[in-house]
Amino acid sequence: MLLCKFAPIVVYSLRQDSMKIEDLLENIEDHDHLSSNEETPLRADAFALSDAEKIESIKKDVHHILETLGMDMTDDSLKGTPNRVAKMFVQEIFGGLRPDKKPSASTFDNKYKYGEMLVEKNIVVYSTCEHHLLPIVGRAHVAYISNGSVVGLSKMNRIVDYYAKRPQVQERLNIQIVRELQKVLNTDDVACVIDAKHLCVNSRGIRDIESSTVTGEFGGKFKEAGIRREFLDYIKMDTKF
Ligand SMILES: [Zn+2]
Repeated sequence: MLLCKFAPIVVYSLRQDSMKIEDLLENIEDHDHLSSNEETPLRADAFALSDAEKIESIKKDVHHILETLGMDMTDDSLKGTPNRVAKMFVQEIFGGLRPDKKPSASTFDNKYKYGEMLVEKNIVVYSTCEHHLLPIVGRAHVAYISNGSVVGLSKMNRIVDYYAKRPQVQERLNIQIVRELQKVLNTDDVACVIDAKHLCVNSRGIRDIESSTVTGEFGGKFKEAGIRREFLDYIKMDTKF
C-alpha cells in the first residue's frame, strides 16, 4: 500500500530500532493513502454557501462534537472554541479550496537566458491530512527549467501554500504543485519533492515521531536520470530511485 499510482516514490524512513515494519505497514493501510484523482474531490456546490454561512454551520458542528464528548460548553475557556475552529477551517487551514485564492499566474521573460535548472528549496509546508484532519508539516523542494518565461521566486512558495491549505494527501499535493507550475511556466520541465511529517503517524496510532514521508513528481526533462540527479544533489537528498 506504500505505492500510489501518481507518485514515483513514497518512503517512510524508520530511525527507531524498536519499530516493527509490520506495525508500520498496518498503520499505513489503515491510513489508506491511495487517492483516486489528482483533483481535490470537491462537490459542484462547494461554494454555494458564503464563508460566513460556512463558519456559522461549522461552529454548530464543533460545539456538538465537544458537547458529545462531555465538555461543559458554558466554561469560559471553551465558549469561544467553536467559532475559533470554524473560522480557522474556512479562512486559514482550508482557505486554499477557494479558486479565487489561487496565486496569480504572472510570469516574466527570461531576460538572462538562464537555461539551467532553478531550484527553490526548503519551502515550508503546512497542510492537513484529509483522513484524520491532523497536520502535515514539512518541506517542499521545487525546480524548473525555463522555457522562455520565469516566475518570481515567492510565487513558488505561494503555490505550495495554496494547495497545502486543503484537506490533503501528500501525493496529491505534490502533483497539484507540479501541474500548476507546468501551466504557469508553459513547460513540462518541473519537479517537486516533499518531505513531511504526518501527525496522524507521529502523534497517534503507531506514534512514530521520527518517520517522515517523501514523495516526488518529475515532469519533462526531470524524468531523465542525470537531470533528476542534479536536482536531488541540489536539495541534498540521498533517496534512491
Ligand atoms: Zn492521516
